[in-house]
Amino acid sequence: MADEKDDRWKQLAKPFAKSEIELLPKYTGQKDSTGRIPRDKYRACKECGGYHPFPCVHLRYVGHAGITQRLNEVDPLWNWEPVATDQNGLPMMTNGGMWIRLTVLGVTRLGFGDAQGKQGPNAIKEIIGDAIRNAAMRFGVGTYLWGKSDKDKHMAEIGAPPDEPPFDLYRDALERAKHRGVSVSDAMEFVESIIPRPREEYEELEIKCAVMLVDSMQPPEQPDEPEEVETF
Ligand SMILES: [Zn+2]
Repeated sequence: MADEKDDRWKQLAKPFAKSEIELLPKYTGQKDSTGRIPRDKYRACKECGGYHPFPCVHLRYVGHAGITQRLNEVDPLWNWEPVATDQNGLPMMTNGGMWIRLTVLGVTRLGFGDAQGKQGPNAIKEIIGDAIRNAAMRFGVGTYLWGKSDKDKHMAEIGAPPDEPPFDLYRDALERAKHRGVSVSDAMEFVESIIPRPREEYEELEIKCAVMLVDSMQPPEQPDEPEEVETF
């Protein structure tokens, strides 16, 4: 029977089908002086089908429905409970979110969920869903997505193009340049001096041009200078 249990643990961590993976846009551009995203940044998005500000990266995640379905498949008796309740017996909120205990296959692990910016009656549903997702991750559910999303977020922070079509070719070229000792920010600056457009708006031809430009770059001849270190 031990084998069967091993299989169920493996099943928990199984990759999700493409159709179960949702895209969450995260704005990476500038905000105005009041800290808001300027209105003219919003556009319809072909990639995720939403209407949101650009530039952005899309984080991949599995929605509440996909996570609960996976838990049901692996252990129909899975269960969650709030870690703390208030004097009325209702789940206690801390810092706009809630700690839960998720029990799967007889093992209990903690998770924390917040409202992900939602308000009103949807907020509590979101908090529960997010807490279950977060705790399920500690059982290996969808962790490979989080790793990739974190990397994408970091790349967006240093201003590199996203690792997805059509920008992935440009990003690959930047990776190659980095291995030759060319700084990624120098390479992007060089490209932008020749293609004076926001790089998140590059069309196919501009991306091809960017790739050629980056591939033509050689490291500066300063062997005594310490090499610039960039985490990629
Ligand atoms: Zn989108």
